[in-house]
Amino acid sequence: MKLLLSTQSLVHAAHCHNLLLAAGIRAQLRNTWLSGAIGDIPFQESAPQVWLVDDDCEEKAWAVLAAAANPPAGPSWCCEGCGEWHEAQFAACWRCGQGRHR
Ligand SMILES: [Zn+2]
Repeated sequence: MKLLLSTQSLVHAAHCHNLLLAAGIRAQLRNTWLSGAIGDIPFQESAPQVWLVDDDCEEKAWAVLAAAANPPAGPSWCCEGCGEWHEAQFAACWRCGQGRHR
């Protein structure tokens, strides 16, 4: 078991937990009931935490969270070569190979 992250927000912790599970990474949500104890015990020990069941999944876990935090930005674009529409993250047309112009 390895502590992945600790956050003040239970919503944020639960969101990250769900993203990891959806990606097939085994994780546990802890300290979901201790918010009333903040002030009595050190914050980092009382804040909601996300733990990894498998320690060696940390790199993959951060990649999953980073990808979720930075979704492809920008509008879809239309290929000038063939008229195919593409999501913003694609730099070239998959159908005819022409690069993105706009
Ligand atoms: Zn094209």
